[in-house]
Amino acid sequence: MHPKKMLVGLLAIFVLAWGLGVAQAKPFVGNKNSKKFHVVACQYAKKMGPKNRVEFSTVAEAEKAGYVACKVCKPGR
Ligand SMILES: [Zn+2]
Repeated sequence: MHPKKMLVGLLAIFVLAWGLGVAQAKPFVGNKNSKKFHVVACQYAKKMGPKNRVEFSTVAEAEKAGYVACKVCKPGR
């Protein structure tokens, strides 16, 4: 295979994988009512109504938005 073609192929795979990663749900979810945020797997995150749900990529992002870490699932700990 032509080395330049291989490089373009690798780049395409990388961009595709990155795109899929972005499309995936963020690891933390906050509740607009309680102003608490959880890991996605937390029982309270699962119970949360879609209307109250807000997603965060990082703990810092959630805290910056004024959300407090859940005491049960301890996001980011
Ligand atoms: Zn929680």
